[in-house]
Amino acid sequence: MRFLMGGSFVTEKQLQELRGLLIELLKESMARFEEANLLLRNGSQYNPGDETSDENDRNRLLSRLDQVKQNVGEIHQALNRIRSGTYGECVACKGWISIKRLKILPTARFCLQCQKILEQKDKKET
Ligand SMILES: [Zn+2]
Repeated sequence: MRFLMGGSFVTEKQLQELRGLLIELLKESMARFEEANLLLRNGSQYNPGDETSDENDRNRLLSRLDQVKQNVGEIHQALNRIRSGTYGECVACKGWISIKRLKILPTARFCLQCQKILEQKDKKET
């Protein structure tokens, strides 16, 4: 196991714990996806006949579905990284993401430092 051989602070037990967190997140996201999908198919229950609000509801649901789809994708990627042994590695600097950060955000791909740099870049671009 790469984590142990590399002298990383992530133990097998912690990895299993994080995997559990990811699976919980995945279940949650799937439930939210189903819920939004169902609402979308059944149409809005609010203000029947009011097409403007229907349209708004629909757009809101669609953007929620997009968000959930993105989350599910990120969770799958994180689970794949666990499988391939690259989980916990920052994709930018190849350093390790702290276990504290992973517990809060199990899908994190960047360490805190790189994340900060990215966010600063985003701010400059907008
Ligand atoms: Zn980094």
